[in-house]
Amino acid sequence: MRNVPFFNYPHLFKSHEEDFVRIFKDIGNRGAYILQKDLRDFEENLAKFAGTKYAVGLANGTDAIWIALMAAGIGQGDEVIFASHTYIATAASIHFVGAKPIAADCREDHMLDPKSVRKLITSKTRAILPTQVNGRCCDMDEIMKIAREFDLVVLEDAAQGLGAKFKGNGVGTFDKGGTISFYPAKNLGSFGDAGGFVTNDKDMYEKVMLYRDHGRNDDGVFVMWGFNSRLDNLQAAILDFKLSFYSSEIDRRREIAQMYQDRLGHLPQLHLPPAPNSNPDYFDVYQNYEVEAERRDELKQYLKDNGVGTLIQWSGQPVHSITSLGFSGTGLPYTERMFERCLMIPMNTALTNEDVAYVSDLIIKFYSK
Ligand SMILES: *Cc1c(COP(=O)(O)O)cnc(C)c1O
Repeated sequence: MRNVPFFNYPHLFKSHEEDFVRIFKDIGNRGAYILQKDLRDFEENLAKFAGTKYAVGLANGTDAIWIALMAAGIGQGDEVIFASHTYIATAASIHFVGAKPIAADCREDHMLDPKSVRKLITSKTRAILPTQVNGRCCDMDEIMKIAREFDLVVLEDAAQGLGAKFKGNGVGTFDKGGTISFYPAKNLGSFGDAGGFVTNDKDMYEKVMLYRDHGRNDDGVFVMWGFNSRLDNLQAAILDFKLSFYSSEIDRRREIAQMYQDRLGHLPQLHLPPAPNSNPDYFDVYQNYEVEAERRDELKQYLKDNGVGTLIQWSGQPVHSITSLGFSGTGLPYTERMFERCLMIPMNTALTNEDVAYVSDLIIKFYSK
C-alpha cells in the first residue's frame, strides 16, 4: 500500500531546505524583520507576476478581504453578493465591515453563477465578491457586465487563484483588485499565515497600504485610522524565492490535472473539474482538484483505507447552510447538490506520477465493484 497524504506539509520545507535555511540566516544576520527590502522586492515581483500595477503584502488572506472591502468603501447598510461555495472568511469579511453577505449559487464548473448573482441584486447591493475558487477564475465577462449594469464594485477573493486567468487576464485585474492567501497549503504557500492584495487601482493600493500599517504614510504621518496587518519580512523573503519558480509549479499541477483527466475522464460516476486545455478562455492553476462523485462518502473511506488522503472542502458546508450565522440554509440548488457529492483528491507538487496513477487506479477499482 502507498501512502499519499492529501497535503504533505513537511515537503513544503524539505523540497528546498538549503535555500530556506540560507534565507533565514540572511534575514537573521541583517536583523530585517518588519517592512524591509525583502518585502518590497516581493511586492514588486508579485505585481509583475500577477500582471497588476500594484501588490501589497498582508498578514493573511482574510485580513486582505476585509481591508480591501473597507478600502473600496463597503460598509454599513450595503449588501455584498458572494458565492456560497467559498471559505467562511469571505462572508465573515463582509460581515465585519458592517455589510450583509448575500450567498449565490455556483455553476457546473463550481464557479459563481452570474445568473444567480443577477437574481439577488437589490437596491442595497453595492458589490460582488466572486471567489476564484480551486485555482480557476470566474467568468469575469458576465460578472463585470452585471457590475456595470447596476453600478457595483467587484472585488475578487483570489485566495486560491494566484496565476489563474480568464481570457488572458489574471485574477485581481478585473476591477478593484484581488486578495491572495499564502497559507501553507495554498498554491504559493509560506511557513505560516501570510496574504496579499493585487490591483491596478491606485486609490485601492494606497488605502490598503495605509490600513496595513496604522494609517501611517511614507513620511511616518498618521493620515487615517489603521492597524497592523503587515506581511513579515521573513515570510516575504521566502515567498519571493518561491515565486521565482511558481510558474513551473503551476505547470506541474496542470500536468497532474491532465493525468487525472486521462485516467478518470471516462467514469460516469465522476464529474471532474474542467481539463487544463478544454476551454481557451480559462487558464486554471489547480489549487485543488475537486470532483463530484457518486457514493462520495464510501469512496472517501475506501481511499482512506488504502492510504490516500482526501478532503471535503470547508467541512462539507457551503456558507449559506450555516444557519447559526443567520443564513437561510436553502435556495441554492446546484451548490446544495454539489456539497453532497464533492471530494478533493490529492493535488500538490509533492505528488509523483506513481502517486497519481495509484490514486486513479483505486478510484477505478472502487467503481468497478
Ligand atoms: C484560504 C482562503 C481564505 C483565507 O485565507 P487565510 O490566509 O487563511 O486567511 C479566504 N478565502 C478563500 C477562498 C480561501 O481559500
